Amino acid sequence: MDLAVVGAGTMGAGIAQVAVARGLTVTLYDAFPEAVERGAGRVRAGLERSVERGRLTAQERDAALARLSTTATLDDLAPAPFVIEAALEDLALKRAIFARLDELCAPDAILATNTSSLSVTKVAAAVARPARVAGMHFFNPVPVMALVEVVAGQLTSEATVERVTALAARLGKRPARAKDTPGFIVNRVARPFYGEPLRILAEGVDVATIDRIMRTGAAFKIGPFELMDLIGIDINFAVTKSIFDAFFGEPRYRPHPIQERMVDAGTLGRKTGRGFYTYGDGDGPAPSRRTTSPEADVPPAPQRLGASEVSAPSSEPREREGDDAGR
Ligand code: NAD
Repeated sequence: MDLAVVGAGTMGAGIAQVAVARGLTVTLYDAFPEAVERGAGRVRAGLERSVERGRLTAQERDAALARLSTTATLDDLAPAPFVIEAALEDLALKRAIFARLDELCAPDAILATNTSSLSVTKVAAAVARPARVAGMHFFNPVPVMALVEVVAGQLTSEATVERVTALAARLGKRPARAKDTPGFIVNRVARPFYGEPLRILAEGVDVATIDRIMRTGAAFKIGPFELMDLIGIDINFAVTKSIFDAFFGEPRYRPHPIQERMVDAGTLGRKTGRGFYTYGDGDGPAPSRRTTSPEADVPPAPQRLGASEVSAPSSEPREREGDDAGR
């Protein structure tokens, strides 16, 4: 095994897909067997799209799939020389996972977290060897987005940073060093792209109008509500709360109750079929399939969407058109 991925959701499946397409043998783990199944299905579907787009041959797809194993047993990750954690954005959960991985894996294995906003230092403090823990922050959709923020915690060794940077490059990504500050670079800069539209919504302007204006009038690639649906409302809300708390309640980053209500209701965006918009199926592959907001223009095709928790609007790094994993 070259790589283990913890968490088989939106990001974990995307990371696994890119890694197997790039020749790595990967074990994809999730605590829930049904999530493992769903994640493996996403990897298969993603590789299939790459074949349809001519980026992989059918033979390469089969070889990539043969490099993927799945498990719902964390102990199976013991032989991994490199682990990327992409479970929920919850510090206590991540610390528990890292503490267990630290016991399980070889002392020289690298333990990286895909956290969007949590302190890498705080995650690393849960392990006996914090020098081998780093942030490796991918963007969504992983097969499309080039940037990976590489984040050293207070005690991360330079050797760990170098190995994380090298893996990002091997995955065809563009690694960039970021400081271990709340939200790193992209998510910090992007905060008002969510907070202000939510406040405008609360003042009575509808989501479709705000999205349409931002896309057609201001030339953003994707509107803020479309982006929140793509990220996942729960993840976006958790990131906002984490940045707000990390800055000791700084009002600029205050979360909005609209998002909290949506999380409580389980309307989490594309992954549940319903968020600010409604989608044809759970993964809502094309925004044009949404059934609300008829007045909104049809946004660009999904592979053109630069999104993530988070990559920001038109200033985001350019997508890799030639990414072999495709989307
Ligand atoms: P998701 O909700 O799609 O997936 C999370 C997965 O974690 C689920 O499959 C869930 O079953 C699994 N999980 C829950 N508890 C677990 C445990 N104890 N062990 C292993 N797996 C467990 O979330 P996501 O969007 O993939 O986000 C995952 C991480 O990546 C978060 O830290 C998030 O902040 C970060 N991230 C998200 C985005 C984005 O746009 N969604 C972008 C960059 C980074």
